[in-house]
Amino acid sequence: MAIIRSHLTGHPYKPRREWPDQAHVQWGGHGLVFGEGKSYNTAFFEAFPRDGTAGFIRGEGATIADAEDNAFAQWEKFFECKSHGGHQWGRSRRRAVGDKPYTNGGCFCRRCGAFETVMQPIVELGGWKKPISDMELDAISLGSTWNMNSQKVPEKFQKRLFLRARVFGVNIPKPPSFDEYEEFAGTRKREMRALYREYVSSCERAVAQYLKDKPEQESAVIEGVGTERLFSCLVASRLKKLKES
Ligand SMILES: [Zn+2]
Repeated sequence: MAIIRSHLTGHPYKPRREWPDQAHVQWGGHGLVFGEGKSYNTAFFEAFPRDGTAGFIRGEGATIADAEDNAFAQWEKFFECKSHGGHQWGRSRRRAVGDKPYTNGGCFCRRCGAFETVMQPIVELGGWKKPISDMELDAISLGSTWNMNSQKVPEKFQKRLFLRARVFGVNIPKPPSFDEYEEFAGTRKREMRALYREYVSSCERAVAQYLKDKPEQESAVIEGVGTERLFSCLVASRLKKLKES
């Protein structure tokens, strides 16, 4: 059973597919899509599987159920790639000359097209002083500083994210240290999941509080088209929801 984003807990739609337990999911009947030159409305279903298949999956369709089926089919494709040979991550979508690489750590699998933040961001010198970004706030609100599937996000990246949250006054609880994960291995799955859910909702609340205290943090949508812009729109809308929660 996936983790349903808190603003949807009372929603009449219930996910029907067997998403991984640690996946975060959300959906809507009228998602605005920013296309090339035109915008349109569609039902959508979004998943953050957190199982190493992909960072973010979005399905669209005439109904939410169709959108979920569409998203789940993508998850199955990514899962297949991950389980048979594994993803081959690269900072650009294709291995082509002139294909602009992402510098924020987001990567594409060259085999199946999955998108995930698997590399460390290309950090400029003095980056510590840089204000906390929307991407970082979003990652923090999703509980990314606690990672049960710790093989995919480098420990250093998580530690840096945690420290930056604290430096900028996002008051998230300390995640278990990596040694403590070993101890957790003996904890029953159900209890572990309860601890994790509690951690994620504390992180959500901490980011919501931060956004309320800092009205000047304005979410900016990245110019252009494609996955990067879609991701940026998604982040901006999620932060807006948290701010208004
Ligand atoms: Zn792949």
